[in-house]
Amino acid sequence: MYQFVVLTLIALFTFTTPLTALAQTSTDQDKIYQQRMELYKKAEAVSLIPWYYFAAIDQYERNVRQVRRDLPKPKGVLGIYIKPEIWAGPLNKAENDTNPFTISQFGGLGIDGNGDGVADPTNDEDIIFSMARFLQSYGTDHQHIKMALWNYYQRSKTVDLILGKVKIYKKYQTLKLDGHVFPLPLYSNYSYKNTWGSARGWGGRRIHEGTDIFASYGVPVRSTCYGIVELKGWNKYGGWRVGIRDINNTYHYFAHLNGFVSDLREGQIVEPGTIIGSVGSSGYGPPGTAGKFPPHLHYGMYKDNGYTEWSFDPYPHLKMWERMEKIKKKQRGRK
Ligand SMILES: [Zn+2]
Repeated sequence: MYQFVVLTLIALFTFTTPLTALAQTSTDQDKIYQQRMELYKKAEAVSLIPWYYFAAIDQYERNVRQVRRDLPKPKGVLGIYIKPEIWAGPLNKAENDTNPFTISQFGGLGIDGNGDGVADPTNDEDIIFSMARFLQSYGTDHQHIKMALWNYYQRSKTVDLILGKVKIYKKYQTLKLDGHVFPLPLYSNYSYKNTWGSARGWGGRRIHEGTDIFASYGVPVRSTCYGIVELKGWNKYGGWRVGIRDINNTYHYFAHLNGFVSDLREGQIVEPGTIIGSVGSSGYGPPGTAGKFPPHLHYGMYKDNGYTEWSFDPYPHLKMWERMEKIKKKQRGRK
């Protein structure tokens, strides 16, 4: 949750000195994006695999690492973690082998990317070139890269999440996709409070996995992030619902909608502010059931950690996005 802490800090700083603090943090983050992009482009140059595949793998792994205690924290700017037995080779008795020659003898993935004679699993260039060579050994077109990813991760969900990010990075041609907005337009009449984990009357789920934002029928519901529409349709409790997967492996769940915008489809790329539907009271019955409770948007957030997906409290995020959007609006007004 490192990122969350950082974002909370940003929110705190902006409370006192909005402009300077925002500028400061964004410059530091820009530098990191730039360093990462240089590494992806180098990998592209040697492997002929487009940079956004490396960006997607890296982004997926960075976010898994952030929420997993069994994985070491990254030393450089990359998030990719290659396990020792994969790096050194499964039969290599020297688990921490950094000799490129013996590693290759044992079929390890690790190579010396920066030319210092050592295949160091914590060095960014060694990591990215090792990954590039692995992918390239399957081929450089999409289908072969997909196969390489499947063989490497052995989990279709992981492959889907990475390929989703590939699509997003390819479209926007930048790594800077961390903008967010509040799900309802700020001018609309809405109210919400923190109901995370409270007992729920409607429908018998044990805990309430989200925040309910009360508003009138028909108020537009917007994507809060850059992402991909992963699911769209009816589910028994959520009614008409949309699930959007962002670039941080987080699934944003919008439920009880009145309906969807007409051109919304699964696999579509959305961005902060893209209208996906409107507030309603659908759910708790067969498709079309509505009106069993007052109209509201149920907003949930779920994180993938490489094994499974768990729900976390969206309330602090909603508060932060609401506040950031207000600050940005004011700043725009000043210019
Ligand atoms: Zn709810």
